[in-house]
Amino acid sequence: ARRAVLSAVTGPGTTADGHAVPLLANIGGPRDLDAALAAGAEGVGLYRTEFLFLDRETAPTPEEQEAAYRAVFDAFPGGRVVVRTLDAGADKPLAFLPSPGEEPNPALGERGIRMFRRYPDIMAVQLGALARAAAGTAAKAEIMAPMVATVEEAAWFAEACRTAGLENAGIMIEVPSAAIRATDLIEEVDFFSIGTNDLTQYALAADRQVSEVAALQDPWHPAVLDLIGMAAFAATAAGKGCGVCGEAAADPILACVLVGMGVTSLSMSAPALPLVRAALARHTREQCRSAAVGARSATSPAGARAAARAELPELG
Ligand code: PEP
Ligand code: MG
Repeated sequence: ARRAVLSAVTGPGTTADGHAVPLLANIGGPRDLDAALAAGAEGVGLYRTEFLFLDRETAPTPEEQEAAYRAVFDAFPGGRVVVRTLDAGADKPLAFLPSPGEEPNPALGERGIRMFRRYPDIMAVQLGALARAAAGTAAKAEIMAPMVATVEEAAWFAEACRTAGLENAGIMIEVPSAAIRATDLIEEVDFFSIGTNDLTQYALAADRQVSEVAALQDPWHPAVLDLIGMAAFAATAAGKGCGVCGEAAADPILACVLVGMGVTSLSMSAPALPLVRAALARHTREQCRSAAVGARSATSPAGARAAARAELPELG
């Protein structure tokens, strides 16, 4: 029993009945690697590359980018490293690009893959640097695009990755249209990663930046759970992976619900890993499924949480 408790604190993510759920770290750059490794992350599920681009007068050079990506890949030989391409927009403007101009609602504007497509040079340099870094590493490099809303965007991104020599192209599911039509989108890509922060913002039409509507920014909302369930169902049916890399993955109870809906890996900031690992280790996949069914039958976030908790007796 002692050994089980210890591995629940440091080992790979697994349910009580031995179903593996890789536990990965969200990072902003190489400086976050020590914390990720110390917390026992099995890889990186979300490398937010925009931090390389923000707060500077010139674009990062190809060499600078390659070095940053390589440092992260090399920290996880044999592990997965999921890199997200530049996620910038009017809320995160880049000084070296023409000003995007004021948008009345940056969350609904030209951001993520929409902006990435407008600047083919930025895109080509980033994908090229990723391909060179990926070629020489023992990590499994996976590249994903943020804010994908349509099949056409997913197909365009997968093709851009192939052209750059990158295998394993995926998309974030963080726009409701992508979750609703997940069965179409999964045909175009190798994996999904659900961004529950934006998915919740768009499902509830509640801006993440506006504190007055913060109460609506709750991934326990059954509408959000249904969208997650649709994406996980489509990926499972296609035999492809579906991770979660939004804040929802860091909530130990919700993490069990996500696994119960068919999510295949969980990525979170390093400090959250031990509690999520422990919650999974104490429950079977069947219990996680029951928690998911209960949560999705509820009519409110509080009801969903209570229903899930009732099916997860070992949370302590
Ligand atoms: C998300 O939207 O859930 C996500 C992981 O991306 P970010 O928080 O960087 O928008
Ligand atoms: Mg997002």
